[in-house]
Amino acid sequence: MEITDHLLKENKTEKITHQLTDKTSGKFVQGQPDTVVVHFTAGRDARSSIATLINPTVKASAHLVIGRDNSITQLVPFDKIAWHAGRSSWDSRSGLNRYSIGIEIDNAGRLDKQGNEYLSWFKKSYPAEEVFEGVHRNEEAASFWHRYTEDQIKITEDIIRLLVGQYGINLILGHEEISPGRKVDPGPAFPLDKIRNDILFSDRQQEDEDEFEGDLGGMPSETMGLVTANKLNVRSGPSTDSIKITKPLPRGSLVKVIERQGNWYKVKIEEQGWVSADWLRVD
Ligand SMILES: [Zn+2]
Repeated sequence: MEITDHLLKENKTEKITHQLTDKTSGKFVQGQPDTVVVHFTAGRDARSSIATLINPTVKASAHLVIGRDNSITQLVPFDKIAWHAGRSSWDSRSGLNRYSIGIEIDNAGRLDKQGNEYLSWFKKSYPAEEVFEGVHRNEEAASFWHRYTEDQIKITEDIIRLLVGQYGINLILGHEEISPGRKVDPGPAFPLDKIRNDILFSDRQQEDEDEFEGDLGGMPSETMGLVTANKLNVRSGPSTDSIKITKPLPRGSLVKVIERQGNWYKVKIEEQGWVSADWLRVD
């Protein structure tokens, strides 16, 4: 895949089509977009979601729709503002459409268990192997969600990497994070934290380690820091003007310290949690 004239173009393996809609607010201002917002469609299939998103009477659009058949459909060029985020805020910003590229992934969303059946809001039944049970980041109790296909997750990650390279994206957020209470997508079945860490932190960390080899402007390796504030904000640069790039670190978190600049430490964030042994390969 590559991006030409703000459109995703295929090479041999992807199925990319363009069904461009003029449901946009025009071009981004200089320096934008710097954010990707991930969504689920909560729809029956990609075809019906695309039909809705290009329907002139529906006040919603998005840049991309990723189907369960690995189809990729672009509806809005990446240099134009689409209507996917709605009422939303992050850090000091509100109205995230003006800052972000919206990726919709075909997925039925939350499922309701009734007897042996898992039903979507539109009353379609899904087999157990397509059901993910997990706790939403904005909720306390576990619930059921439609699984994404492995390919959908991989394709989404590949596209975000391309966008990071092309547009200097430095924030990857879920709709549930910018419109909490109102939106729950992409939900716990989507590995948002992992993808965000892999793309924005781990790669950068590797480059930094290469850069700092033999250069003691960096910290001695394996310097650890313990968070002493209740909530410690993590920012894209060493200044309070820099945007928060992930949720705050809770008191007691241990982080690896990479570098110091003035009154700021650059740290590597490693999140911990329990995962099903069915889904983790340990050699
Ligand atoms: Zn959404």
